[in-house]
Amino acid sequence: MKKVLVLPGDGIGPEVVAETVRVLECLRDECGLAVEMEFGLIGGAAYDVHGQPLPEDTLKLAKEADAVLLGAVGGRQWETLPIALRPEKALLGLRAAMGVFANLRPAVLYPQLAGASTLRPEIVAGLDIMIVRELVGGIYFGEPRGVRTLKTGERQGFNTLVYSESEIERIAVRAFEIARTRAHRVCSVDKANVLEATELWRDVVTQVAARYPDVAISHMYVDNAAMQLVRAPKQFDVVVTTNMFGDILSDAAAMLTGSIGMLPSASLNESDRGLYEPIHGSAPDIAGKGIANPLATILSAAMMLRYSFHEPLLAARVEAAVSKVLDDGLRTADIQESGFPVVGTGAMGEAVVAALRATHS
Ligand code: NAD
Repeated sequence: MKKVLVLPGDGIGPEVVAETVRVLECLRDECGLAVEMEFGLIGGAAYDVHGQPLPEDTLKLAKEADAVLLGAVGGRQWETLPIALRPEKALLGLRAAMGVFANLRPAVLYPQLAGASTLRPEIVAGLDIMIVRELVGGIYFGEPRGVRTLKTGERQGFNTLVYSESEIERIAVRAFEIARTRAHRVCSVDKANVLEATELWRDVVTQVAARYPDVAISHMYVDNAAMQLVRAPKQFDVVVTTNMFGDILSDAAAMLTGSIGMLPSASLNESDRGLYEPIHGSAPDIAGKGIANPLATILSAAMMLRYSFHEPLLAARVEAAVSKVLDDGLRTADIQESGFPVVGTGAMGEAVVAALRATHS
């Protein structure tokens, strides 16, 4: 029996998570998925009840769970709190507690939505990239760091880019393993011509590549990778990179698809326990209106099935159900197109469940 901790969070989080829970319940009740769900508080919703965004109870449940499904956190009413109490702080605490070092960010453009991208359809149609970003190391965490005052009185900011061999090896292994389930290509992105830490990155990735002769490896400097992502993005299959480069490139790749409401993510630890969440935030501007797109969260649950529960067939069925509702012309407001009726969050979730049922019967 797999245990899922469900953390709806703030804003549209509870709305999109509710639809995803319906999908998981359908898989449990009708497709034999052995799963049990528990619910917890995080973010502003947790602060309002417990005075902190990541209560002990939530942390304990997260550590016991096989997977965590998260909506989103944040909202204007909590923006003036001290940083340590802000909803967004809970995300960092949760990632650290779960030890999730591999952030998987797919950028998939559904052919039905090719018109949503800012790039020409022939550049992006069929796009399917998986960015594997190192999540708990590199310059975001390196010490020493800070702002110091020099003898001249001028202030100087400094951070440290640091990676050890084992940190690079484990993320590279993840990327190669994932490539084996896809098109067998890994592009490692670094800045080895300037930064020694990423010279080591390139060395270690090359060593790991030798253990995967069936996967083609290439290396690219990050400036070129940024350019290639918008010039000819379909050349990429799996991209593996450092924390900061991955942060930037994955947002650029996401925008190639043009629809923030469609993109899921997974963050995995050594033993495949994971945190699954849409890449979007709590969207306070549309919260409570029942118009948010739940597909990014539903697709995050599909990633949960694939990466934490090792149920690739069920994952593919959820993805096929999403594709089916798009084929049927259902569109939420964010992916609205002329000629297609706009549906709300609940109707979209219901349609995915109906499509799942149809493939089961
Ligand atoms: P956002 O992603 O919440 O919203 C950006 C825009 O996209 C908004 O116009 C919103 O309406 C739209 N949008 C987002 N998700 C959508 C969906 N599923 N369907 C339809 N439209 C959608 O980013 P933001 O406005 O910069 O941030 C809002 C709050 O969310 C802030 O408090 C921020 O800190 C927080 N945030 C949280 C996370 C997270 O929980 N992982 C991530 C990013 C931002």
